[in-house]
Amino acid sequence: MRYDLVLLDFDGTFTDVEKEAGPFFEAYLADVREILGEGFERDWEEANAVLTADPANHGWLHEGRIVAPGNADPYLRATVIINMVLDRRGLYLDGDARTELLQGLYHRNYPKADTVFRPDAKRVVEALLESGIPTYVVTNSATHDVQAKIDRLAPRGRERLAVHGNAKKFFVVDPAPVDPRFAALPATMAVSGLGRPIYLRRGHYYEVLRHIWDETGVAPERTLVAGDIFELDLALPAHLGAHVQLVLKDRTEEFERQAMRQLANAETSDGLAGILARVGLD
Ligand SMILES: [Mg+2]
Repeated sequence: MRYDLVLLDFDGTFTDVEKEAGPFFEAYLADVREILGEGFERDWEEANAVLTADPANHGWLHEGRIVAPGNADPYLRATVIINMVLDRRGLYLDGDARTELLQGLYHRNYPKADTVFRPDAKRVVEALLESGIPTYVVTNSATHDVQAKIDRLAPRGRERLAVHGNAKKFFVVDPAPVDPRFAALPATMAVSGLGRPIYLRRGHYYEVLRHIWDETGVAPERTLVAGDIFELDLALPAHLGAHVQLVLKDRTEEFERQAMRQLANAETSDGLAGILARVGLD
């Protein structure tokens, strides 16, 4: 086998996020109406238009940094738009209060989304689990929410698929403790054609990766990480020596493809079958 460990993102990688998010958006907007009152829709639509015109540069802003493109999935889009609306109205300007509000809105409404898997999801998960290669899901979503979705997929070998939720891949912060490997990471990556940096030192995500690498005894160089959003899922592990796979979708940004071209051991594929090909299981 080419790899001794496979780490998978979940939303957007195994699911079709645009198809499943309708009920999520409806419930999210109802919550926003509670907070902002009637008439917020015009601000919302204006912010949406600004975002849609340039998603790479109107990203998910966390603690003053853009940490992901704003249109990458409906969950991100909702967060980016509400951020713009709150900024415009001068509300929740304190960073911690803003984060708490946004995380609450997200986690409360995420379970209301439908579950729509990509074609091949079950077959690909089953093939990975059958191969005996340790395979984990590492996701920003809550562990039990994602476990419930995987239960619905019901792949053979389900019991061997561990889920690490709440990975906070967006959090640019030091891990505890900082170790030499993290200390050696550059702060940012420049992508040709993108006028902003990609932040690499995502210490919370790093803690999750380090935990899995410690637990399995596998080196980053023998690990394949697959995801659908370059800077959230792949930028950090790629700079730690892992091999990375970007699973494309309609809204994959050009800069994400470009970033992949700039890296060694980075490949893209239209669907999940590309993961099996990469691992050598097709
Ligand atoms: Mg994703």
